[in-house]
Amino acid sequence: MEKTITVSTLKAGFKNSFAALPKKFYEPSMPEPVHGAVLQKYNQKLGRDMGFGFTKETPELADCLAGNLVFADATPIAMAYAGHQFGNFVPQLGDGRAILLGEKITPDGKQLNVQLKGSGKTRFSRGGDGKSPLGPVIREYIVSEAMHRLNVPTTRALAIVSTEEQIPRPDGIHPGGVMTRVASGLVRVGSFEYFAARGDEAAIRMLADYVITRHYPEIFEKKDRYRLFFSSVATRQAQLIAKWMQLGFIHGVMNTDNTSISGETIDYGPCAFMDYYDPNMVFSSIDTMGRYRYANQSAIMKWNLNCLGICLQTLLGKSNEEAIDVIDTTLAEFEQEFINTQESGMLKKIGIETTSDQDVSLLGELLALMQNQNADFTLTFRYLADHVKQGSDMTPQFQDLFNAPEEVAPWLKSWQARIVKENSPEVIQTRMNCVNPLFIPRNHWIQRAIKNAEAKNDFSLVDLLTTLYENPFTEQPEFTNYAQAPAKEERVTRTFCGT
Ligand code: AMP
Ligand code: MG
Repeated sequence: MEKTITVSTLKAGFKNSFAALPKKFYEPSMPEPVHGAVLQKYNQKLGRDMGFGFTKETPELADCLAGNLVFADATPIAMAYAGHQFGNFVPQLGDGRAILLGEKITPDGKQLNVQLKGSGKTRFSRGGDGKSPLGPVIREYIVSEAMHRLNVPTTRALAIVSTEEQIPRPDGIHPGGVMTRVASGLVRVGSFEYFAARGDEAAIRMLADYVITRHYPEIFEKKDRYRLFFSSVATRQAQLIAKWMQLGFIHGVMNTDNTSISGETIDYGPCAFMDYYDPNMVFSSIDTMGRYRYANQSAIMKWNLNCLGICLQTLLGKSNEEAIDVIDTTLAEFEQEFINTQESGMLKKIGIETTSDQDVSLLGELLALMQNQNADFTLTFRYLADHVKQGSDMTPQFQDLFNAPEEVAPWLKSWQARIVKENSPEVIQTRMNCVNPLFIPRNHWIQRAIKNAEAKNDFSLVDLLTTLYENPFTEQPEFTNYAQAPAKEERVTRTFCGT
């Protein structure tokens, strides 16, 4: 497809190491110009940390982030990948609505990819239009930035551009949006599957060496580097899923093409934080079987890692049997790492720093009470910290979280008796408040922010939420309303990819 695009005078300081790989890894791809582009948000702090000297007003920046111009030193490409979507293999996916502009070496030596999302068709667009409605762009900006502040490895959001394009989707016509996403790497499990499906062993080795150099440089010189690589990815993913779970986060579309080798959360489509605790919670409208439900996320990650292991098979052992052994062992280690980090992380949420079987039972009793009584996941842990003093009564706000608070009282007593042994009440409370956020990006607020932006071009709620979620662990009394669980009629229980 022919696209006329003008090169900007603006330089970003880009390199593109991925574009230095052979042509079969990607397709050079120019963004499609859009009309009515407005740079609605520019993440000044992230930009500064990355070493960009831009401000929102920098001439030509808005057009570069809209795809109307290309930074003078960009090498725009669309990356090739395949993937298992809901368990079914699709041999060719790839960046169908995303274009990698280049990578920025930050002043502190990080290597970060900068990508436009929603910037038009590429060779990998299949039947899609390569565009994104504004809504999913806003959702990704708010949630990914919040995840970063919640200490979860994640891609970041540098900018939102709104356009006057009309984007047709099954639920109607939406205004368009272009997002600038920043990632420490964009190679996915599906990138390996792309070459495995084509029987291209040389490409798999090259890709493995590329990501090892980039994300796991400490193992590059090791003799068994591919085994170490596979187990390092598994460890990072175990820790990532545990972090999600400790925040009540449901990714929603854990396909292998959305599983990053860097260990970052990637692709905020139909994701959501649950309000009341239900381990079987599903938000995504297309996840009809609940494959990606809250409690299934570690099992799914194990499944995805198995896909990666199969791609790496010839690098993992001299024979098939040896490789299968390595895969089995690594997956077992993944499981154990997940259990350990999940247990210790959840126990920290109730103020317990050391793990014993009794403590795990105590935690289980609380989770059962929360589940039976539809208690809000985030606030139960947050407000629990107000009860660290022996014999302190339930606060009204804690009581309000439960349908039958009197059934929680005995548990609270046992818990108080247990945490006396941990530390002073003050220390426990401070620790708990550092791991239990007060503010999470709740669905009903995100939805409202999107509605205001789409319908009235009013970004004030987007601004407010992004500022609020910069300090998710800090009380901000004038914004208590945003910490509250939604009333029944406010609940948003379905989310959409919007692609
Ligand atoms: P996702 O699961 O949303 O990450 O997307 C899965 C695949 O569909 C990826 O290859 C995307 O590039 C592609 N895709 C999603 N939305 C579009 C779109 N609007 N146009 C073209 N390709 C798309
Ligand atoms: Mg994706």
